[in-house]
Amino acid sequence: MTDIQASLRIVLVGTQHPGNIGSAARAMKTMGLSGLHLVAPERFPDVEANTLAAGADDLLASAAVHADLDAALAGCHFVLGTSARRRHVPLPELSPRQAAAQLVEAAARGPVALLFGRERTGLENEELQRCHASVGIPTNPGFSSLNLAAAVQVLSYELRLAWLATQGPEAPSGRPVPGAEPEPPATADELERYFAHLDQALHDIDFHKGKPPEMVMARLRRLYLRAGLDARELKILRGILAEAQRMARLARGGPMKA
Ligand code: SAH
Repeated sequence: MTDIQASLRIVLVGTQHPGNIGSAARAMKTMGLSGLHLVAPERFPDVEANTLAAGADDLLASAAVHADLDAALAGCHFVLGTSARRRHVPLPELSPRQAAAQLVEAAARGPVALLFGRERTGLENEELQRCHASVGIPTNPGFSSLNLAAAVQVLSYELRLAWLATQGPEAPSGRPVPGAEPEPPATADELERYFAHLDQALHDIDFHKGKPPEMVMARLRRLYLRAGLDARELKILRGILAEAQRMARLARGGPMKA
């Protein structure tokens, strides 16, 4: 599983109980995964994590600990977030099976991430907004929240099945067709810079007309994330925004920027 081992990040955000970090490491290792990333864990390293890792201590030792989500997602071009319940964030929802297939496919083209939330409160809305889609494990509607490490196990298992499916004799080779090499996909950080630019440009052209911009921005984020933009497409879009800003400045009689 070397290809997805190198580019798939399992990101645990704000984990409260170190035992869950250990159990998650064990869940991952049994399924052949190794890229454990922790964002601001409450207690780590911690002996409880090692106890519950039960032999997956190597994953704990090599885990990357980040101060914030931006750092954990640096360079990622595809991000999914798991959630135990429907949120107000308008995101497409995937089953674990669909999510695993898309992650394995995307991991062949560069770093990808799967996010897991805090034990008590899950992922925050702003964290889910960084995701291309959310992933829900179908559960008893009256009791829908799995233990964090159990959720990691379910998704790791699906990732293994999806990866195994690419290893069969008729699996695609992954080699690009000569002359049709794809552009590199846009990374999460490039997309964030684009969204900041878009936000500014919409203000500059007075798109919102005094209405609050949050809902429109959330919908536009969903639209752009769904499109799976590559780096070149993003550059074109940024060029359009810059031109719209220039026209708006001209219309206001402001100075022309070279
Ligand atoms: N009360 C929290 C539950 C968090 S459970 C909430 O409502 O969001 C801790 C983490 O485990 C979640 O953030 C998610 O990453 C994962 N998880 C638990 N149950 C899940 C489910 N049914 N589907 C997908 N992820 C789940």
